[in-house]
Amino acid sequence: MSQYRTFTATDAVEYARQFGGLSDPASLVDAQEIGDGNLNLVFKIFDNAGQSRIIVKQALPYVRCVGESWPLTLDRARLEAETLQVHGSFCPQHTVKILHYDTDLAVMVMEDLSDHAIWRGELVKGSYFSQASRQLGEYLAQTLFHTSDFFQHPHAKKADVIRFTNPELCEMTEDLFFNDPYQVHERNAYPPELEEFVATLRDDAELKIAVAGLKHRFLSQAEALLHGDIHSGSIFVTQDSLKAIDAEFGFYGPIGFDVGTALGNLLINYCALPGLLAAREAADGREQRLTDVREVWQAFAGRFLALAAEKTRDQALAYPGYGEAFLQKVLQDTIGFCGTELIRRTVGISQVADIKKIDHQPMREECLRHAISLGKTLILAAPHVQDIDALIARIRQNG
Ligand code: ADP
Ligand code: MG
Ligand code: MG
Ligand code: MG
Repeated sequence: MSQYRTFTATDAVEYARQFGGLSDPASLVDAQEIGDGNLNLVFKIFDNAGQSRIIVKQALPYVRCVGESWPLTLDRARLEAETLQVHGSFCPQHTVKILHYDTDLAVMVMEDLSDHAIWRGELVKGSYFSQASRQLGEYLAQTLFHTSDFFQHPHAKKADVIRFTNPELCEMTEDLFFNDPYQVHERNAYPPELEEFVATLRDDAELKIAVAGLKHRFLSQAEALLHGDIHSGSIFVTQDSLKAIDAEFGFYGPIGFDVGTALGNLLINYCALPGLLAAREAADGREQRLTDVREVWQAFAGRFLALAAEKTRDQALAYPGYGEAFLQKVLQDTIGFCGTELIRRTVGISQVADIKKIDHQPMREECLRHAISLGKTLILAAPHVQDIDALIARIRQNG
């Protein structure tokens, strides 16, 4: 049994040689720690020609961006590797390949995606990837359908709910998504100029009841094995490829949480574009984001229904019309969770580059206000929105 120790660059090279599955392992000579995330160490491993070949990712026993004062379970490396393996078994084309992992060392070796770019960075620059929204919808449908009760054997499903029990990472989401932004909390990270505006979230009873309902569903609805953190910074793209990474928040939760997180990050970009690009490009980019939102949903819902018609194993769930009725509820969850993602990324601790990269302070505040107000609108409207066109209309109405 291997004992946990924090890897150095040398350890990472040695580990990649051993477990990278390369035909020329001895050519690996160098490692660079490139983690820009909040939680973990990520080493890029280079060969003697200076080519990056493979990735070694290790969990630390605490939250990296906060330090040792915020301890966090090492089991998240197992949860990440196993979630990505399950997702990869159903949607290999859109899931990063895990080559090896070790529970005790909290480490995994994975395919190097250096020929891809993180989608968020590209969205901030105004670059457009015409396949990405459809591919993201496909990833969501394949992974969520095949891990749901539509497809899984009820015994296997219950065993997997236990295998993917993730209390500590779920608690982070429970706090950061559903608690912090709606109270005075030291972790909140909005600028002081927005104090009055943010305060209106705290004493809005209708909003807080709606957020309570969303948190309750996050806590209790074991519908499918979620990625758990599928924002645009967890997605690598090229012009014809899309790959999800970073699934350490994986657990059995409500399907609309993953879909809503994905849409929420597209909508943060929608709100931020006027601060990031010149007027004409920003206007085009915003139209494109609304099209992306529609395409993600349509690709997801279309594939989910096709899979339900073809592959549902549960007798009752296979009854004609049930798949459509279920997706109607998923749409409403999606819109609600999308609203909470907009608010937690603007009021809460997990601020995003789309907003941070806006240089002009009054403009940044304007975009933040827009994102927060859109988030609130979506949380309140969620139970009343009938289809994706009605959602797009609500977003336009909000400005
Ligand atoms: P964290 O869990 O700490 O957020 P991530 O898995 O998001 O870590 O990885 C952090 C960064 O490391 C990513 O934003 C990306 O730049 C880089 N990275 C992660 N996985 C890969 C990969 N498979 N190929 C290339 N770069 C990667
Ligand atoms: Mg990450
Ligand atoms: Mg807590
Ligand atoms: Mg992560």
